[in-house]
Amino acid sequence: MMKAAPWPAMLLLVLSLALNLWFAGVPDWRWIPAALGAWYVADLMSGLTHMYMDYRPCTPGIGLGAMFHYAGSRESAEYLALRDGVLPRISPFERLVYDFKNHHPRPNALGRRSFLVQIGSTILFFSLPASLLINLLCLAVPVPGWLLAGAVVLIVGGSLAQYFHGTLHRPDNPWIVHAMRRVGLLMTPQAHAIHHETLRRDFATNNGWSNPLVNTVFRFAMRRGWLNESGLEPN
Ligand SMILES: [Zn+2]
Ligand SMILES: [Zn+2]
Repeated sequence: MMKAAPWPAMLLLVLSLALNLWFAGVPDWRWIPAALGAWYVADLMSGLTHMYMDYRPCTPGIGLGAMFHYAGSRESAEYLALRDGVLPRISPFERLVYDFKNHHPRPNALGRRSFLVQIGSTILFFSLPASLLINLLCLAVPVPGWLLAGAVVLIVGGSLAQYFHGTLHRPDNPWIVHAMRRVGLLMTPQAHAIHHETLRRDFATNNGWSNPLVNTVFRFAMRRGWLNESGLEPN
C-alpha cells in the first residue's frame, strides 16, 4: 500500500537539506527558538494531516469497505485478489487516506513496516519538493539563517512523522527515541493510546505539543459539519 522512498529521492533530499544548512551559515542563538518552533509546527502538520485523513470519506461502493472489514487472513488468496482488484481503481492519495483508516483496527502493522516505507509518501509528496524549492529561493534572494535552520528542522520532523508514529506501535526502538521521549521531544505510547481509544482527539503523533490546538480545530470542524463520523470507515 504505502510505497518505499526510492533511494535516489532519499539521497537528493539529504543533499538538498545539507545545501539549505550551508546557506544558513554559522549557527547563533536564534536557531534554538527557530528549531523548537519548527518542531511544534511539524507536530501540528502531523496532527492536521492525520485528522483530515482519518475523516476524509473514501470512494464508496468499489470494495474498500470489503477490504477494510475482511475477516479472514490478509495473506489469503481471496483477500489478495480483492485487494488487487480494488487498489488500482483509487489514486495514490486515496491509498494514503485508506492507510490512515486501516491503521485504527490494525495499529501494529505500521510499526512493522520498514523505515523507507513509513517515510516514502511524505518524502515524495512534501519533503523533497519543499526542500528543493527552498534551495531555489536561497539562490534567488538572501534568506535569514535562523529561518533556514527552522525550515530544515520542520522538513526533517515532517519527513519522520510516520516513522515516529510507527515507534509508538512497537516496543523495540533505538535509544534516541527513548531519550527524546524522556525529555518530551517525542510523545509516549500511553499519550498516543488516547487517540486510538477515542478517534476524536490527539491526532498529532510527533510530540503532541500541538494536540490542544488540533483538538480545538477538530471540535470546530465537527460542529461546522466539515468532518463527519461516517468518513472514519470505508464502505
Ligand atoms: Zn487516527
Ligand atoms: Zn497510531
